[in-house]
Amino acid sequence: MNDSCILVVEDEVEIAELIEFHAKRDGFRTRVVHSGKTALESLAREIPDVVVLDLMLPDVDGLEVLRRVRRAETTAHVPVLIVSAKGDESDVVAGIELGADDYVTKPFSPRILMARLKNAIRRQHADHEPNQNEPERYVLCGGELVIDPARHVVTLCGKDVDLTLTEFGIIQYLAARPGFVRTREQIISAVHGRATVLSSRTVDVHVTALRRKLEALGTRIETVRGVGYRFAEVSETSIED
Ligand code: CA
Repeated sequence: MNDSCILVVEDEVEIAELIEFHAKRDGFRTRVVHSGKTALESLAREIPDVVVLDLMLPDVDGLEVLRRVRRAETTAHVPVLIVSAKGDESDVVAGIELGADDYVTKPFSPRILMARLKNAIRRQHADHEPNQNEPERYVLCGGELVIDPARHVVTLCGKDVDLTLTEFGIIQYLAARPGFVRTREQIISAVHGRATVLSSRTVDVHVTALRRKLEALGTRIETVRGVGYRFAEVSETSIED
C-alpha cells in the first residue's frame, strides 16, 4: 500500500489540497491535476494505483475521462473513485455504470474518502493475485457471515440461511467487493439468468427480504440513495470521527 500513487483530478483547488493533505499523511504519493485534459496527459505518462475523479471539470468532463480510462488497456483495471457535487445522482449512476468503483459526495469526510481509497487499492491488489479471482468462500463480518458459491450456501454465525436464488445472487455480487456501490442495473445484470425477470423495483423487494434473513447483519446491505446498494464491511459510523 505504501508508495501507492493517487491521481487526484479536481479543479477546485481547496478540495484538491484537502485530498492531497490526507493522502500524503497516510503515506501515499499524489499527483494533482485540475482538468480532464491534464488528467488524460498524466495517465498517459504514469499509471496510478487509484484515481480520485471529480465529475465537473473544465474541458474534458469526468465521465469522459472515466470512459477513456476504462477503454485503454493500460488503465482499464485502475480503480476510480468519483467525487461528485451533491444532487448529481444521475451522473454518479452513469459513472458507476461506466466502471467507477465507488463515489463520495461533496462535502465529504476525508477519513471516509481515505478508507474508500485504501479499500479500492487493497481489492485491486487482491484481484491481481493468481488464483484469487474466484475465492472459494467469502468470509465477512469477522466470520459471522460466510458465502460459499460452490455449495450455494450462506451461513450466519454457523447456521445456514435459507435464501432464494436471486437473494443469493445479490449477496454474492455485493459481498464480492465490499464497500463498492452497485447500481440496481448492475445487480440485475449480475444475477440475470439465475431467476426470472428482475426490475429495479423487484431488486428492492429482494434486498428487503435478504436484510431480514441476515438479521443483525442485514444493515450491512446499505441503501445508497439515488444510486443503489453496497455491502459495508465496516459501517460508515465507525470510520467517522
Ligand atoms: Ca469540479
